[in-house]
Amino acid sequence: MTMSAERINVLIAGAGPVGLVSALLLLRNGLSVRIITKETEFRTGYRGPGIQPRTLELYRFLGILDDVWAGSGPHQTIHEYTSPDNGEPPVIIWNDPELKSQVDKPHLEPRLIGQVDHEAILRACLLRDYGCQVELGTELVSYEQQLDFVDATFVTTVTGSDKTTHTAQFDWLIGADGAHSVVRKQLGCTFLGQSIKQVGSLLVDIHLLNGWGDDHIKAWGNIFQRFLLMRPYRSAFSAQHSTPTQPKSDTRMQLMIAGPDVNELAQTMGEHNLNGSTKEGRDALVKVVHELSGRRDFVFGDLIGMGMWRPNIRMVDKFGEGRVWIAGDAAHVHSPTGGQGLNSGIQDAFNLCWKLSLVHKGLQDGSINSNRLMYTYTEERVRVVKAMLNITTNLLKQTFGANPGGAAEAQENAAQSTSANNAISSHSTPPSSINASNDIKKPSRSGIAFIRGFELRMFGINYRGSPIVLDEVDPPAEVLDPYKMSADEPVRGGDRAPQAVGLKVLCGSSFTSTEDGQGRTTLFDVFDTTAHTALVFAGSIESLELVRSLVRALTKYPHGMMRIMIVHSQEGEPELVATELEDKVLEVQDTEGYAYASYLRGLDLSGLPASGSERKGPVVVIVRADGHVGAIVKDAEGVERYKQKLFA
Ligand SMILES: Cc1cc2nc3c(=O)[nH]c(=O)nc-3n(C[C@H](O)[C@H](O)[C@H](O)COP(=O)(O)OP(=O)(O)OC[C@H]3O[C@@H](n4cnc5c(N)ncnc54)[C@H](O)[C@@H]3O)c2cc1C
Repeated sequence: MTMSAERINVLIAGAGPVGLVSALLLLRNGLSVRIITKETEFRTGYRGPGIQPRTLELYRFLGILDDVWAGSGPHQTIHEYTSPDNGEPPVIIWNDPELKSQVDKPHLEPRLIGQVDHEAILRACLLRDYGCQVELGTELVSYEQQLDFVDATFVTTVTGSDKTTHTAQFDWLIGADGAHSVVRKQLGCTFLGQSIKQVGSLLVDIHLLNGWGDDHIKAWGNIFQRFLLMRPYRSAFSAQHSTPTQPKSDTRMQLMIAGPDVNELAQTMGEHNLNGSTKEGRDALVKVVHELSGRRDFVFGDLIGMGMWRPNIRMVDKFGEGRVWIAGDAAHVHSPTGGQGLNSGIQDAFNLCWKLSLVHKGLQDGSINSNRLMYTYTEERVRVVKAMLNITTNLLKQTFGANPGGAAEAQENAAQSTSANNAISSHSTPPSSINASNDIKKPSRSGIAFIRGFELRMFGINYRGSPIVLDEVDPPAEVLDPYKMSADEPVRGGDRAPQAVGLKVLCGSSFTSTEDGQGRTTLFDVFDTTAHTALVFAGSIESLELVRSLVRALTKYPHGMMRIMIVHSQEGEPELVATELEDKVLEVQDTEGYAYASYLRGLDLSGLPASGSERKGPVVVIVRADGHVGAIVKDAEGVERYKQKLFA
């Protein structure tokens, strides 16, 4: 296969969070990118706010955590009042299971940031770091996949309603074009599952002119009669683009109104978006809010946007083929209960982009003659997304009642949907931590399951059993729930690679920062989205020759693909192994023992070379560019076998 030097490598259709993160990942990997959106101006509206701790870790590897952290805030408490408010003190729900911070998991709590600001920050990073700008008003309408490239056809809005059509060629196409994805439809993927028409909520963004006083969420009423939730937020992006009639520093509110009659209620308000808003619709909304809350002191300004959300639970059978792949809502839609959607889409992008980058570069230099690696994107993500649909659907049931769609709807959907529903029910026993009884730690006046299980922080997501995962030291007896690596179990191939701190840099300091003033670094400062990192746990003095043979085997990976890090244990004065390879190898001592504890504790090491009764190592843990363990091996042959798995 040949690649054109002038052609832009990847077209990304869609500039929501998943398209933007994909662009950042690919550009960081040295590919060229064009990112388009059919919208003629950037979206406003709060929408999906919860960034899960695992996504924060991935953002750190991508080098944008500081930007997202600065623009986001901590979790908000929920104050539940009687409806209408009769002066009784609220029930206060704090979504914090009193977690103690852990070295191996530096971020335990989600951060909150409205999608409007989240996307603005991602766009700013793209522009600042790569000079890449999102092209507004450019809609992908069709494409044709050839052996060596993809031919894409766009319609561009020039001015007003004037449009032009043009075509261009790319090496790859990523469809991050949301739930109604053109790319998915043209790929011919199934998108099976169910839509639940009877249940839903009205979602509103509106200005509040007289402030809120604090940062908590207020809720009134009951989901089985009528329920109102009001979340205050400020939007730096929107403030920059505010209209002269709205003060820059005003508070914005995200309102959620739900209940059995919400569909009729929406109709009376004239369900619409910002462009179609009417004064009557806004006034009807304000009246409902005043009635439900019993609070006349809220002074609302302009309506920003309003729409109905109805549960739609679907996923694809494949995430792409050849040169065309999809990610995010284009591949799976689900209930927002649990805040997993955007996060799952970003994790799709991390899984996809290292593979695509490697295959692209391999095709260029001839080191890969097959793109089998690309198909593992589907294999790995389908299992995880099935489990996620299961969990979020269970949360939806807890929130809206056991059978939110009702019997008739369930039957209607059972007739149409096969695989996605089977996928959902194949995990028929929901993980115990999502049972309401386990999760609701504080009383709730509304009965809504606000407190979420630990697994929704997404640390447990794993690719155990994947065809490109190699586990040769102590393989687990069975493949786990793909959402649930247990905290008590040793780390196995496919699992999230944990953090370790206190790693004193002995040589190869150009690979990492040592900003703690003591010449030490952490694993999360070494992991990067452009390369695998091989952690060579050196073991004892006697095994140093073995360590050298491992390093030699690791240097045979394609140029730039593998970072090598020798980790000496905390005991004694380590003997340097690879001084002559200083430009290729980082050597550290695990001064506080966290790395050995996180990666080797609990593993059965009886297969390793021994000196007397003591097992001496070494062990190599290869961490992929998406922060998951790709391989755990003990010798140079194992290192070679992992290469074969990736490049077969
Ligand atoms: C009320 C609500 C709350 C939520 N809360 C959370 C939460 O707390 N946490 C969480 O993880 N998730 C949450 N979600 C889900 C989250 O909003 C979505 O999963 C997320 O937006 C998906 O991102 P995406 O980039 O895949 O798609 P989208 O955000 O839908 O972006 C798709 C983009 O593609 C563009 N596009 C579409 N077609 C074309 C085309 N043909 N050509 C060019 N461009 C095109 C669109 O204009 C858009 O820019 C919530 C959702 C809702 C509705």
